[in-house]
Amino acid sequence: MKFAREVFVLVSLACLVLAKYEGYQVWRITPKTEKQIEWLHYIEENMGEEFDFWTGVSKIPGNPVDIMVQPNRQTNLRMLLKQEKLDLDIMINDVNTLVTNQMDEILERRRANRQSVGTRLDNFDYNAYHTYEEIQQWVADMASENSDIIEPFLLGYSCEGREINGFRIRGTGSQNPYPKAVWFEGGIHAREWISPATVMGFTHKLIEEYRSDDDLVLRMFDNIDWYIVPSLNPDGYHYTWTNDRLWRKTRSKYVGEACTGTDPNRNWPFQWGGVGTSPFSCSEIYHGPSALSEIEVFNVVEFLRDRWYEGQDFLMFIDWHSYSQVIIAPWSYLDSNPRTDDYQDQMDMAKAMSDAILATSLKVYGMGAGAEILYPAAGSSKDFGYAAVPVNPWDYTSGGMGAKYSYTVELRDTGEYGFLLPEDQIQDTYDEIHAAVRAIGDRLLTEIGA
Ligand SMILES: [Zn+2]
Repeated sequence: MKFAREVFVLVSLACLVLAKYEGYQVWRITPKTEKQIEWLHYIEENMGEEFDFWTGVSKIPGNPVDIMVQPNRQTNLRMLLKQEKLDLDIMINDVNTLVTNQMDEILERRRANRQSVGTRLDNFDYNAYHTYEEIQQWVADMASENSDIIEPFLLGYSCEGREINGFRIRGTGSQNPYPKAVWFEGGIHAREWISPATVMGFTHKLIEEYRSDDDLVLRMFDNIDWYIVPSLNPDGYHYTWTNDRLWRKTRSKYVGEACTGTDPNRNWPFQWGGVGTSPFSCSEIYHGPSALSEIEVFNVVEFLRDRWYEGQDFLMFIDWHSYSQVIIAPWSYLDSNPRTDDYQDQMDMAKAMSDAILATSLKVYGMGAGAEILYPAAGSSKDFGYAAVPVNPWDYTSGGMGAKYSYTVELRDTGEYGFLLPEDQIQDTYDEIHAAVRAIGDRLLTEIGA
């Protein structure tokens, strides 16, 4: 009965989605000169409430920018682009049709084969997108079926009261009470559905390899703790299933503010409120009323500082996003000279990841320091991951986690579907990232001498 009701809700709300994106298009603009780049950045900064930038403006001439444009703004933007001598390519001609067709397909499959998207682990379909409830069930099932190596934890609750669950993987051969650790979080941006799907997919593959005594994975799990939270923005993610497939932010709403939602990836405490963030609640990059105003982000900071206080060092922090296939290192808050002291090692690690991906699927992932390849964005997770832990670790409003290897990884694709990546690309995505995570494991083991 519960399932039938859920289908009904999804079907009825699919019509809502249908209404919302009628006539919307995604345009690709490729600036060739510094002046054109600066102009696009100006539009991004000042008209961010009218145009939804699906990708950030790159500082590198020739790199494209994708913008979703509502119908009544298309003539206006066309004129502006003409004045700047900028051409446009239409990447998605009809956002509404794409959203509606995909949702219809997903609902149809769920109706036809309830088992394939069931919550039992043996039936879990890694090549399908899952609701938030199913992802939480997966976390619980993985933990109970692998209780020798997986310890679940409740990270906390979302703004609307949903549980945010994750788990820690630690091999049975682990000797150290506080091994070095890796933090992986998915789904901080609600519409980036490939992120939780990828995190679940590669985690499943690693567990299978551990069970078949794969030498590298045995050493990875025995010498390093792997903390995994597949879906960090439950309210936003739920909303993408029920109301608005392209919702990005959280679902918090503050007194006196016109719009709902804060960008959780501008809400981290390190350098909160700086360049590349917005004080306006209707912006897609609204930084929130204060650092850590978003309980989902607060939960992570509190959890990680607790682990640190217990004696655990984080070597790596990755926030999995989509799209554009790029591995982005700190700093993102600094407008000039954004390379960190660990830049070369960070790029060597990123190169190992991208080589592994290329060898697996022939997909190309770029890399660089945040504000060197994109315009700055303060208060992001990758800067928090890298910034040093403050003298007082209980001061959540400053510093970070001191993880040498901290990244934002933008997964597939490069814009053909953008956030609307079809389900038939899920497996290829988690396969290539699985190879990247093995490469990470290999390098980290060498680095800690294990
Ligand atoms: Zn994102």
